[in-house]
Amino acid sequence: MDLGLRDTRALVTAASKGLGRACAAALAAEGACVFIVSRDEARLARTEREIGATGHLAVDLARPGGPEAAVEAAVRELGGLDILVCNAGGPPPGTFESTPLDAWEIGYQLTLMSAVRLARSALPHLKRSGRGRIVNITSISVRQPIPNILLSNAFRAAVTAMAKTLSGEVAPYGVTVNNLAPGTMLTDRVRDLYGDDLEAASRGIPAGRVGDPAELGATCAFLCSVQAGYITGQTIGLDGGALLGVH
Ligand code: NAD
Repeated sequence: MDLGLRDTRALVTAASKGLGRACAAALAAEGACVFIVSRDEARLARTEREIGATGHLAVDLARPGGPEAAVEAAVRELGGLDILVCNAGGPPPGTFESTPLDAWEIGYQLTLMSAVRLARSALPHLKRSGRGRIVNITSISVRQPIPNILLSNAFRAAVTAMAKTLSGEVAPYGVTVNNLAPGTMLTDRVRDLYGDDLEAASRGIPAGRVGDPAELGATCAFLCSVQAGYITGQTIGLDGGALLGVH
């Protein structure tokens, strides 16, 4: 299937590795011009070469001005914007009682406000595109909170509610807004957590394995496609059946 992504202009954030990189790689493979952003200049330059992206900028998305600079650089490089894939690192882990008040501010800026700032800056360009797409990478935790990552649970739920509200407001402009909610995908983050013990990482997942980031990348590319123009305000789970609820 031709997804109609050739020569579309995409910004993917937190894309030097992991899930962001997988989304950027899938879009680039479909012929999109992809601008990538994360904090590490050397790793970004390497990823740009490896996936055939069109440009990059090292920026901290948790700092006010960072997301805005990312959009500005992407628009300058690409001449406009059709697709925004919002991703960032996870906020500090912890339970309610072990999470100090100032960590809430970190989670707020990194997880919620980075998505808000990116969408605000990108919207004029996406509306002009006539086929704009926003895809937020969230987590299975928006439907089933995960113990010991309180801030992620709280602020990703806020991103989901924000995205749903925004999706209705921008639908008349042909802009769709959706979320990808991964369970356990095999990235460095998960490798750091489980080492080589993929059996432990796969426990409780009906599919019997962790997810491949490329599976999430392919879903992202489809949500950005022409064919997905009527899908908006949705959260798509990628969890091998781990979520046991019906929604
Ligand atoms: P990863 O550690 O492999 O990659 C994280 C990326 O984010 C890197 O490119 C890093 O440079 C970038 N980044 C982190 N903080 C940043 C900042 N402040 N500014 C700019 N860039 C920043 O992680 P991943 O596994 O790909 O996860 C991506 C996101 O998805 C995270 O928020 C994670 O919590 C969430 N998530 C991951 C999984 C999973 O199974 N991998 C599951 C659910 C949710």
